[in-house]
Amino acid sequence: KRSSPSQTEFYQAAEEVLESLRPLIEKDSRYLKHKIIERIVEPERQIMFRINWVDDNGEIQVNKGFRIEFNSALGPYKGGIRFHPSVNAGVIKFLGFEQIFKNALTGLQIGGGKGGSDFDPKGKSDNEIMRFCQAFMSELYRHIGPNTDVPAGDIGVGAREIGYMFGMYKKLTNRYEGVLTGKSLLWGGSLGRTQATGYGAVYFAKYMLEARGESLENKRCVVSGSGNVAIYTIEKLYHLNAIPVTCSDSKGMIYDEEGIDLELLKQIKEVKRERLTQYKKYRPNAVYTPIEEYEEGTNAVYNIPCFAAFPSATQNELNLQDAKNLLANGCICVSEGANMPSTPQAVDLFIESKIAYGPGKAANAGGVATSQLEMAQNASMTNWSFEEVETKLEEIMKNIYETTSQTATEFGEPTNLVLGANIAGFRRVADAMIEQGLV
Ligand code: NDP
Repeated sequence: KRSSPSQTEFYQAAEEVLESLRPLIEKDSRYLKHKIIERIVEPERQIMFRINWVDDNGEIQVNKGFRIEFNSALGPYKGGIRFHPSVNAGVIKFLGFEQIFKNALTGLQIGGGKGGSDFDPKGKSDNEIMRFCQAFMSELYRHIGPNTDVPAGDIGVGAREIGYMFGMYKKLTNRYEGVLTGKSLLWGGSLGRTQATGYGAVYFAKYMLEARGESLENKRCVVSGSGNVAIYTIEKLYHLNAIPVTCSDSKGMIYDEEGIDLELLKQIKEVKRERLTQYKKYRPNAVYTPIEEYEEGTNAVYNIPCFAAFPSATQNELNLQDAKNLLANGCICVSEGANMPSTPQAVDLFIESKIAYGPGKAANAGGVATSQLEMAQNASMTNWSFEEVETKLEEIMKNIYETTSQTATEFGEPTNLVLGANIAGFRRVADAMIEQGLV
C-alpha cells in the first residue's frame, strides 16, 4: 500500500522482502492471523528533529535529524547513523527496515533502527564536525540508551564523529555507558569493529564460493567505494590472496591493474581525508576515470572484468546494465558490502543466472554483529583480543551463510539467497513478535 509519497527506497526494500515471503505465508497461517506483515512495515517509533549549529564563519546552519526505531522484538534498536546530503525520511526508513532482518540474521539479540542527517561533512573543518555532532546529540540523547537504542556509524560517520557524539551524550546524561558502538579503542571500542563489515562481506563470498568448489585465491575482484567498508573489503581480499583492482568514490574510479595499493588508499582516505584523484599521483600506472566519462547509464567499476564484485558504496549503484556487464565479463560472485547497492532488475538477473549472490542484509551483517560484540564487552567491562573478535566474526558470517542457504533450500530455490535471507530474518522476528503479544 503506497500511502505516502517520497519513500522510493523504502518501497523498493519492502517490496523485495514481501515478495520473498509469499511461500512462507502460504505455508504458515499464523503470520496472517497476527497481522505481522502490516505490523512489521510500520516503525515502532520515528523521530524527526531540527539541528541548529554555527559554522566557522559565524553563520547559523539548520539541518534535519532522523532516528527510526523500527522493531525491538529481538533486542534494543541497533543501526548506524548516516551523514550525507541525500539523507531523507525515506532513505532512513529503508535502511531501518533492512536492519531488522539483517540483525535477526546475526542470531544475536538486537532490534532494528537507523538514523542520520542531511548534513554534508565534505569540506567541513574539524570544529564544524564537532559542533554539528554535539548539536545532533543534543536532541538524540533523550531517545537512546544502552538497553534502548544503540546507534553506530554509517556513511559519513566514523570513529571521529562517534567520539564527538559520545562526549555530548556523556555530558548531557552524566552517564558513561555503551550507548554508541564504533567507539575509539582508547575508551570502550572493540578491536575488529572498524574492519568488520568489509571482512564480513569477504567471508560471506568465501562461504558462498566454497559451497560451489571455488575460491577467491588469485582471482581479480572489483570493489566500489573507498570508505570504511571498501577499504577493509580490499584488506581481507589480500589476506585471502585475491587481487582487488578497483575502488571508487562519488566523483570517479581507480583501476589499478596490479592491485590496489592498500596502504596508499588508507593514507589518502583515513589519514588525509582527500579525494581519490590523489591516488594516481603516487601510482602513475593506475587509471582514474571521472564519472563524466563513465559509459552512459553505467558504473565504470562494473565494466572491469572480474571473478567477484563487492559493491561497497551506496544504494542503487549497480543497475541492470552493470549486472549484464559483470556477467558478460565472467563474474560469478557478488557480495554486497553496501546496503541495497543493486537495483531490483539487477538482483533479478543475478538470481536468474544462479551466480553466487549475497544480498547486503546477509553479506554486510558482520558490522552490526561486531557492534553487538562491542556492546557485550562494554556491558561486562572486558576487552577481547583482535583474534577473539575476528574468530567470532568469521563464525557469525559462516552461520549467516548457512542459515540463508538452508532456508533457500527449504523453500525450493537453493541458490536464491535473497529468498533465504528474507525468510530466515523475517521468521525469527515474526515469531518473537507473536510470542510477545500485541504490543
Ligand atoms: P563511508 O562514508 O566510509 O564511505 C562511503 C563510500 O561510498 C565513499 O567512498 C563515498 O564516496 C561513496 N559514496 C557515498 N555515496 C555515494 C554516492 N551517492 N555515489 C557514489 N559513491 C558514493 O561509508 P561506509 O563505508 O561505512 O558505508 C558504505 C556502505 O556500506 C553504505 O551503503 C552503508 O550503509 C553500508 N554499510 C556500512 C556498515 C559499516 O559498518 N560502516 C555496515 C553495513 C553496511 P564519497 O567520499 O565521494 O562520498
